[in-house]
Amino acid sequence: MTGPRFRFAPSPTGFFHVGGARTALWNWALARSEGGTFVLRIEDTDEARNQPEWTQGIIDALAWLGIGADDPHFEGPYFQSDYAEQHVAAGQALFDSGHAYYCDMTPADVEARNKAEGNQGYQGWSRDLGLGPGPGRVLRFRVPVGHTVVHDRVRGEVVFDNATIEDFVLLRGNSSPMFLLANVVDDLTMRITQVVRAEEHLPNTPKQQMIWEALGHPAPVWAHVPVLVNEQRKKLSKRRDKVALEMYRDEGYLAPAMVNYLMTLGWTPKGGSEIADWPQMEADFLLEDVNHSPAFFDLKKLAAFNGEYIRMLSAEQFLEACRPWLLAGTAFRADRFDERMFLEMAPHIQPRCVTLADAAGVVDFLFLESPVFDDASLQKTFAGTDGHEILADTLAAYEALPSWTATDLKAALEAIAERRGLKLGKAQAPARVAVTGRTVGPPLFEALEVLGRERSLERLRHVQPVGDPSA
Ligand code: GLU
Repeated sequence: MTGPRFRFAPSPTGFFHVGGARTALWNWALARSEGGTFVLRIEDTDEARNQPEWTQGIIDALAWLGIGADDPHFEGPYFQSDYAEQHVAAGQALFDSGHAYYCDMTPADVEARNKAEGNQGYQGWSRDLGLGPGPGRVLRFRVPVGHTVVHDRVRGEVVFDNATIEDFVLLRGNSSPMFLLANVVDDLTMRITQVVRAEEHLPNTPKQQMIWEALGHPAPVWAHVPVLVNEQRKKLSKRRDKVALEMYRDEGYLAPAMVNYLMTLGWTPKGGSEIADWPQMEADFLLEDVNHSPAFFDLKKLAAFNGEYIRMLSAEQFLEACRPWLLAGTAFRADRFDERMFLEMAPHIQPRCVTLADAAGVVDFLFLESPVFDDASLQKTFAGTDGHEILADTLAAYEALPSWTATDLKAALEAIAERRGLKLGKAQAPARVAVTGRTVGPPLFEALEVLGRERSLERLRHVQPVGDPSA
């Protein structure tokens, strides 16, 4: 694949952060729409914090979003740890060309000297000592005087005064590379032309641009995308906020809803509607249109997106999507599940679900031997005598009903409501609680039709004595 080369370079140090997922999606959209490549590079050199399961978690979560090896635009995954030789060689080349020098000062030495001289940061003390490599010696970049101008597709031109940048470390005392060097060398090795990444890396960018140039290559096109913040407008944090993409997946968020929502964090699809399908977003997405301010990761909005996507599914798609939760055995016994009944109820369940996991709790009454009664609902509905009387009327009317269709079931209850001067909602409450166990749920008459005559009548009879004041 020719064309621009983008990359996504996560460090596998934990669950896959929703902010990382958004960065990955934006890179993916650009790689595809610009006829380029999306390189996945796992930056796994921090041995103390990396774990193989996090790497697999990232790969699986990306695949769930639709980013994966079965697409010709995808390349990788590459692993940073496989490029150690290149990192050290690049350090050596920078030393040989005079762009870097060795320094034998420990962090404690630097601190002590700064204290004595009233300075902060490393002051280039070993620049002209002519030290060669040796145990405990770090390799530092010789930051030139002047300014570094970063051209950023989101932020425009950002100018850094080099006087504010100390001679930073490229290789540690044990020759292992620092992030700044390894990240650039890998981008170079992988022929990356566009670096689209989190805003927190903007301060690293002038340093990395200097490394690119010192190694004799033009820097890539940069783009730093705004951070995600929570309701208090604080940067999303692992400790405080629900940031793991995997959690949303496991809770029953649909991948297309998640993709759509993440894409709109800091960007709005053309045409005004935020609900947009992937082909449209891929075609429309431009870094230049990205908002500079932090994007609010709004859980309520995400829930609304998910509900909207759930309602867009056909009954069959909805069944397939819900299946893991329906068969989990937590709401009802998996062997009592009946696909036909579920499919018939699906259009009435979909509007009541925020996540796929909700469906099991909405339809459980169909697949349980008898409904699980919610005590508060029972109390509320049958506290006085009215509830019992209405239920008795309903039972009598339904026992006499020649056909068991939602239309006839409704008509019979309307007649009862009228006779008693009640609204239909109030008149159907006792039957609803008797049959479903709850005061709220899917439309009652459709539910009764699907549950069937015998099971419905049985429940209407059975609940009668419960809470009966005359009993
Ligand atoms: N491994 C870095 C991170 O996860 C990525 C840096 C970059 O994208 O350049 O923050």
